[in-house]
Amino acid sequence: MSQRPVYDVAVVGSGAGGGIAAYMLTKAGANVVLLEAGRNWDVIKDSAMLKWPYQSPRRGASTRERPFGEFDGCIGGWEIDGEPYTRAPGTNFSWWRARQVGGRTVHWGRISLRFGPDDFRRKSLDGLGDDWPIGYDDIKPYYDDLDRLVGLFGSNEGLPNHPDGIFMPPPKPRCWELVVKRAADKHKVTCIPSRLSIITKPLGNRAPCHYCGQCNRGCMTNSNFSSVGVLIPPAMATGRLTLLTEAMAREVTLNKDGTASGVSYVNKRTGTDEQVRARIVVLAASACETARLLLNSKSSQFPQGLANSSGTVGKYITDTTGTDVGAFIPKLMDRPPHNDDGVGGAHLYMPWWLDNTKLDFPRGYHIEIWGGGGVPSAGFMGGIQNYPEGGGYGADLKQQYRKYYGASVGFSGRGEMIPNDGTYCEIDPSVVDRWGIPVLRFHWKWTDHELNQVKHMQETFRTLLKEMGGEPRSPMPSKEQGYGIAAGGVIIHELGGARMGKDPKTNVLNEWCQAHDVKNLFATDGAPFVSQADKNPTWTIMALAMRTCAHIADLRGKREL
Ligand SMILES: Cc1cc2nc3c(=O)[nH]c(=O)nc-3n(C[C@H](O)[C@H](O)[C@H](O)COP(=O)(O)OP(=O)(O)OC[C@H]3O[C@@H](n4cnc5c(N)ncnc54)[C@H](O)[C@@H]3O)c2cc1C
Ligand code: SF4
Repeated sequence: MSQRPVYDVAVVGSGAGGGIAAYMLTKAGANVVLLEAGRNWDVIKDSAMLKWPYQSPRRGASTRERPFGEFDGCIGGWEIDGEPYTRAPGTNFSWWRARQVGGRTVHWGRISLRFGPDDFRRKSLDGLGDDWPIGYDDIKPYYDDLDRLVGLFGSNEGLPNHPDGIFMPPPKPRCWELVVKRAADKHKVTCIPSRLSIITKPLGNRAPCHYCGQCNRGCMTNSNFSSVGVLIPPAMATGRLTLLTEAMAREVTLNKDGTASGVSYVNKRTGTDEQVRARIVVLAASACETARLLLNSKSSQFPQGLANSSGTVGKYITDTTGTDVGAFIPKLMDRPPHNDDGVGGAHLYMPWWLDNTKLDFPRGYHIEIWGGGGVPSAGFMGGIQNYPEGGGYGADLKQQYRKYYGASVGFSGRGEMIPNDGTYCEIDPSVVDRWGIPVLRFHWKWTDHELNQVKHMQETFRTLLKEMGGEPRSPMPSKEQGYGIAAGGVIIHELGGARMGKDPKTNVLNEWCQAHDVKNLFATDGAPFVSQADKNPTWTIMALAMRTCAHIADLRGKREL
């Protein structure tokens, strides 16, 4: 084993939560070592932002390494060679993992929503799940700091439980989005400008968005948020960040007194086991991977895994619920060619607008919309054969493409799942990865809370599409088909697994995301989450990470850590 200096802090993972930890802690004067299982990502050289489909023989179609298209910015995907995970019998779950500096933030959707006051106290409101040990007021100052630091656009609307923020001006809705808005207004579904961490005005040395629409490929001008583009460089500039790439953490190592002494990891370049020593360890390897690290850090002091005296590591995991419906909208066809450019995401969305006490499901969802004429890639428009004229040859085919291009619109629901006892992850007793590290086995179960919610999504989407003059492409899924609910993990919003809470008997972390059992161990990814919300989680992962790191800096200042 090679020995290095003792760092103030070792952070595992460089995505949303790890990037914030590296940024905040180096800025606060700590010497930080950042372990990242993936390889480096050069924002300019590695991005395919400016590539045309014809620059590839596959026209951008997906590959095993790039399931969302070969120009996509994420290295990783549903399956990674040599890094399996398993599913318990009857479980339908998929786990997306990024393996690069920046984690999933290089290609994420950048939908950046604050959780609202009610999202932190759901149990008090409807008796289901659990309350968080903190409330909206505890995290609000960090949301504000994050808004200023990273930048996002949006509009202040004063809606209940959808807190406003410090927004840059949003881009105007495009033609197809105005058609969606008209239908939403007719059916009294709230439809407002999106809230995306894309800057529309200069911020520091970052240029505003130039509306190329290719955010998922990684932004060469850093106009959208990625950890590797926005957080790691200023952390590096402090001179206090050591970045170790291709460093796959195996377990957290311990001192004799049961405190964390550092992290042992596999150097993927050489296949050798190495270790970093640190006074504080921050886990940010993504929610389920953080649970895996804790469960794999077994010792005589912690026989059921580190920080797991409650037995709840790996429990209370959730994903966002999701289902989609799309339709061809005849009134959008044969449009004169016009500029449909914009950011790499919709300019409008629909936050949850109804009262659950009047519905047969307890938690809400929001609606993301898609459509318009982005840069085409292989299989675009879902195949011309599915349009009324059914394709053709030569000039006829070209004419049909011009006619139908950009005339489809779709809706994706994204809702809150409530943690349940049948959904958790644990160490598989017999499967290890290529380095001999035991892997996770997932158990997943939906309940009627989620199924009834998704049924409502389907019905709403069909109503809106019909209002727009379209005919949904797929029939209404039946109850037996789960009303079209996406499998667990597929929406890629996994949270929980090392839940925060005041009681050490039922929670892994305290209200500062500090392990109850190990005072110099923290988590800054999605693992501490007590519940989902009807919002995408990453803005809250980052704001919570900021709060945790401010607390670590405070404790270091008082020499309590
Ligand atoms: C296509 C897509 C779209 C999304 N859109 C949105 C959206 O619009 N809004 C939203 O809020 N969220 C969105 N998400 C989810 C968002 O990306 C995640 O919530 C967020 O990135 C989680 O941050 P994290 O730091 O926990 O994990 P990650 O960003 O995944 O970072 C974890 C890092 O840890 C590294 N790592 C893992 N294991 C180890 C180990 N053992 N040792 C060392 N390093 C390790 C990984 O390589 C990775 O770099 C999207 C995700 C995807 C894939
Ligand atoms: S749309 Fe804007 S933020 Fe997205 S990649 Fe292009 S320039 Fe960057």
